Amino acid sequence: MRYYDNVVELVGNTPLVRLRNVTSGIPGTVLAKVEYLNPGGSVKDRIALRMVEEAEQAGLLKPGGTIVEPTSGNTGVGLALVAQLRGYRCVFVCPDKVSEDKQNVLRAYGAEVVVCPTAVAPEDPRSYYNVSDRLAREIPGAWKPDQYANPANPRSHYETTGPEVWEQTEGRVTHFVAGVGTGGTISGVGRYLKEVSGGAVRIVGADPEGSVYSGGTGRPYLVEGVGEDFWPTTYDREICDEIVEVSDKESFELTRRLAREEGLLVGGSCGMAVAAALRVAATAGPDAVVVVLLPDGGRGYLSKIFNDDWMARYGFLRTAAETPTVADVL
Ligand code: PMP
Repeated sequence: MRYYDNVVELVGNTPLVRLRNVTSGIPGTVLAKVEYLNPGGSVKDRIALRMVEEAEQAGLLKPGGTIVEPTSGNTGVGLALVAQLRGYRCVFVCPDKVSEDKQNVLRAYGAEVVVCPTAVAPEDPRSYYNVSDRLAREIPGAWKPDQYANPANPRSHYETTGPEVWEQTEGRVTHFVAGVGTGGTISGVGRYLKEVSGGAVRIVGADPEGSVYSGGTGRPYLVEGVGEDFWPTTYDREICDEIVEVSDKESFELTRRLAREEGLLVGGSCGMAVAAALRVAATAGPDAVVVVLLPDGGRGYLSKIFNDDWMARYGFLRTAAETPTVADVL
């Protein structure tokens, strides 16, 4: 019989898929590392597993303990998966702007979700930062992974994602491109690839316009999961050779093209990373092997990026009035 003992064993070892259509006219090879094929549907399963393992080893998380984290998305799903298997309780804290669908995904995996008001200052006792700190202090046996400051986050990528990229390309990767959120992915993969290649692999961060990594002040943007308004300790400022700034419009247009032209239904930060990868590949020559990491799937964004009215409302698409109707087509 051939089977895995549990879903956590399915974390990592994601495939590389060549992008064939959105790359038209661009020399070289662009390979996408498809992270939505992780069991929880995103790259964050990797860090969840490593953070829990290290907390257990350090004695911070003991049998029957509780994981408390301010997260509304992918990291929560990853933590919930690992927690189930190992018998921990999960309490996630999220601001009330997070959609009910996202909260329900976490509840479906058995986590408890505490919702806090968005419209209060960070120092307010009701803010989601303060509520998660208080819960972590007051719940007996609670442990807070803190993905923005936990060295196990970049380490998981140094130990798994980086070696996978090197082995899958047989050492021929010339560029690695990823969006930067906590910076864990780019810092861990980047450090591994630089070490193993003697500095030959070029590491490129992709960042939404307005975020600090590309020199902004944290001005709001709509692409989710990437960009910051502060500098997390999980981001290694020495690693990127280049940061490419991408607008929301370009990110979302490419996200839609990945679904239509490559069969990859992925999230907005994937479109952003591919936009940066195409810019890099356009000038890198025919021998370049550009690997771009796609963090999550597109199902969580159906009412936004894949919804024409939402796109039109933000000026990212033709307005509904200009969109052809059945009568125009027939
Ligand atoms: N895209 C999505 C959808 C994410 O959730 C994240 C994680 N915040 C990233 C990209 C960025 O990854 P990292 O935190 O490793 O920089």
